[in-house]
Amino acid sequence: MNSKKNKTAQKNPQYKILFVSSELHPFAKTGGLGDVSNSLPKALKDLEQDIIVLIPAYPFAVQKAESIKYIAKINLPAKGFPGHLGLPAGIGKINSVAILETTLPGSQVKVWMIESELYNRPGTPYFDENNIEFEDNDFRFALLNYVAVEIAMGRAGLNWRPDIVHGNDWQAGLLGVLLEHEHEQSGIEKIRPASVFTIHNMAHMGIFSSDRFNALELSPHLWNHHELEFHGDFSFIKGGLVFSDRVNTVSPSYAKEIQTEEFGYGLSGLLSYRSERLSGILNGIDMNEWNPEKDTMIKKNYSIKTLDDKRLNKSALQKHFNLPAKKKTLLLGMVARLVYQKGVDLILENMEEILELPVQIVVLGSGDLELESRLRRWVSRHPEKIQIQLGYDESLSHLIEAGADAFLMPSRFEPCGLNQLYSLRYGTIPIVRETGGLADTVTHASKENLADHSATGIVFHEANGSTIVDAITLTSLLYQNEVAWKKLMINGMNQEFSWKNSARQYLKLYTQAIEDRNKYQKHAPEMFW
Ligand code: ADP
Repeated sequence: MNSKKNKTAQKNPQYKILFVSSELHPFAKTGGLGDVSNSLPKALKDLEQDIIVLIPAYPFAVQKAESIKYIAKINLPAKGFPGHLGLPAGIGKINSVAILETTLPGSQVKVWMIESELYNRPGTPYFDENNIEFEDNDFRFALLNYVAVEIAMGRAGLNWRPDIVHGNDWQAGLLGVLLEHEHEQSGIEKIRPASVFTIHNMAHMGIFSSDRFNALELSPHLWNHHELEFHGDFSFIKGGLVFSDRVNTVSPSYAKEIQTEEFGYGLSGLLSYRSERLSGILNGIDMNEWNPEKDTMIKKNYSIKTLDDKRLNKSALQKHFNLPAKKKTLLLGMVARLVYQKGVDLILENMEEILELPVQIVVLGSGDLELESRLRRWVSRHPEKIQIQLGYDESLSHLIEAGADAFLMPSRFEPCGLNQLYSLRYGTIPIVRETGGLADTVTHASKENLADHSATGIVFHEANGSTIVDAITLTSLLYQNEVAWKKLMINGMNQEFSWKNSARQYLKLYTQAIEDRNKYQKHAPEMFW
């Protein structure tokens, strides 16, 4: 830990943090993880933390970095290196990587990118240009973990060693495993940094076959169902859950939900067993990037005081999608990965009834091919009521947040969800299912909540078609009542979703992780999850 320098520093501990992620907006993003990897480190930097974000140097990421420089070559230790797990044969062919340094735009946060042939491919972080998943994602992300550990243990010649290694999602799931191994080998307590693992989505578990476990040459001792084995396969996320000093997820409700069979993906027992080390911290949003008063990607800026200007964004959005320019028709927006999690099929199953209501719908997203083509069929049947744009489009996602009257988010599960937060900030009423972070952030427009000004959106409970239709019907009724609608918009816009509070909670989590690391106990295989 650094010395305390000023008043603020006396209040907050100061840590060196290595934040490890497979996504980082604006360099590489497929979903919320990219946003959080950007905005949480910035908020921690504002709390005077010495934080560095480590990601793979995907070619599209390097291309977007304004000034990027080579700072080091890390020679990766061969298998059998004393005190080290060693590198598996596949990765062993890669005996060194380069580290490139840049900064996160609009901040002082340093970003280190790992340059390796395993990352030098077009596509997305996980898929090739034809949307086919890379076959060697286990090796690619194992490398991310191995390099992070070289840095964490001060073996990278970078003259910087973290107090905390903060891994995110399955791609960083081996960090805890490798760091624990360092600990065991060293024989000296406290030598390794403390580890924190954040679950952004339990549905992605990094599951690979036992052959791949063998190919990765992970210690055979890890092959048991209390550690990395998962029903005959092996799972990266289990590494993070079993071995990290602290585990958290991105909302308090989701932290509870994943301890149940319905949401735990077969790991609810393990998560319950670790419940004393498991917590939920709500994501914040980047208040500069998602600010209707300053957003350069929307047609007309607006605030609570100039709410009427929001209508110009609605017209621009209708124009973009070639929808009739109806000012008084409820315009519903949706920006999402088009997958089962997001409840797109629930909307599709009830589209007939939904489109009978006085609404227009615009959807931006990509994902499941069948869902995409079912959406397209509705567009061809009712082009004056529903339009979609398939693909990824950052500016359009801002225009939808600004131009839509209400935002559809009928997720089956939602660890935190960011779009409902953006919607609240933009005076766009979120229509959400009561689950995970959606339940924690949106307050239903019941009579009582409208009366005491706490209502911010429409919340429905069951994940079935009739409840969605009811929720949209209720939204369209409320929309007719201009006074109530405006009140709802203003309540939402007045909510506080900056990272300040949550970043402080992460600092507490880091302190707890260090305390737990100091107490050091091996996370025993004698347990019974
Ligand atoms: P998830 O991480 O499950 O995809 P979140 O709501 O946490 O869901 O975050 C999704 C993020 O990705 C938001 O910033 C959203 O605007 C963005 N996003 C998703 N799909 C698209 C798309 N097709 N174009 C632009 N942005 C998108």
